[in-house]
Amino acid sequence: MSDAPEFDQGASSARAYVTLVTNQDYVLGATALLRSLQRARSSADLVVLYTPGVRAEDLEPLRAFGARLGRCDRLPTSPAFNKRHERGRLHKAAPFTKGGKPVFHTPLDNFVKLRLWQLTEYEKVVFIDADALVLKNCDKLFDYPEFCAAPNVYETLGDFHRLNSGVFTAAPNEVTFRDMLARLDQPESFWRRTDQTFLEHYFPDWHGLPVFYNMLQYVWFNLPDLWSWQQIHILHFQYEKPWQTDHPKQEMLRPLIDLWQAFADGTDIPADIGRLPGPER
Ligand code: UDP
Ligand code: MN
Repeated sequence: MSDAPEFDQGASSARAYVTLVTNQDYVLGATALLRSLQRARSSADLVVLYTPGVRAEDLEPLRAFGARLGRCDRLPTSPAFNKRHERGRLHKAAPFTKGGKPVFHTPLDNFVKLRLWQLTEYEKVVFIDADALVLKNCDKLFDYPEFCAAPNVYETLGDFHRLNSGVFTAAPNEVTFRDMLARLDQPESFWRRTDQTFLEHYFPDWHGLPVFYNMLQYVWFNLPDLWSWQQIHILHFQYEKPWQTDHPKQEMLRPLIDLWQAFADGTDIPADIGRLPGPER
């Protein structure tokens, strides 16, 4: 297929961790993520999908991790679909009441995640948001079926009804990709939480991963009893990003932001993350 991602190098494994960056801010995130993946010692490929919005020189830091860089466009969705999911329109139609989205977050870009199903050189892929850190090896996820994701837990029990699309398993398949595109862009379709709402609908019987495979940063202050540095495999900075210079929850999240910064710089990464002090209870 002509619009599949184009890569700078071939695949060297049947498995890959994949992330997505559509602008310089998320490249920053991906740098910390790739360093964390490297530390977790995986034999799978590391793949970064990027859109033309990212300048070539901005991608340079990612090459140091041996990542395969795949250039791709946004999905070929209709102008009407794009308009309905434009940032201002989406925020108005489905306001975010529980946390803030940074200005550099473009909802339409989220749907590019569906291009994972075009990566048919792989048997299985694990997607991880660029605003996450892998704290423990997650390779066993490659033996899990499609479609697995962790619950979107960060506040109440009701959160268990929904999945969070920051981490998921997929089996690339061009037929699935085509089918997804057709289901995605229907007249009047509005996916209030973009790819996340879509994937929940597309895979109604999604398999639940343990919450520790996508531990959301708000758990730190909302559900401190759930926090366990020893068990967290992937830490995900949903809503405000750790590299934002000013955000309202910065002081509350200080230890997590410091940890992200260590991975971003590659200095002072704690030797034993499992022994870090937990949140106040
Ligand atoms: N993303 C991106 N550019 C954007 C929006 C999203 O590259 O403008 C990618 C990036 O990998 C990001 C993921 O899509 O981590 C989902 O967005 P985000 O993490 O900001 O959403 P949240 O986790 O806060 O719901
Ligand atoms: Mn995220």
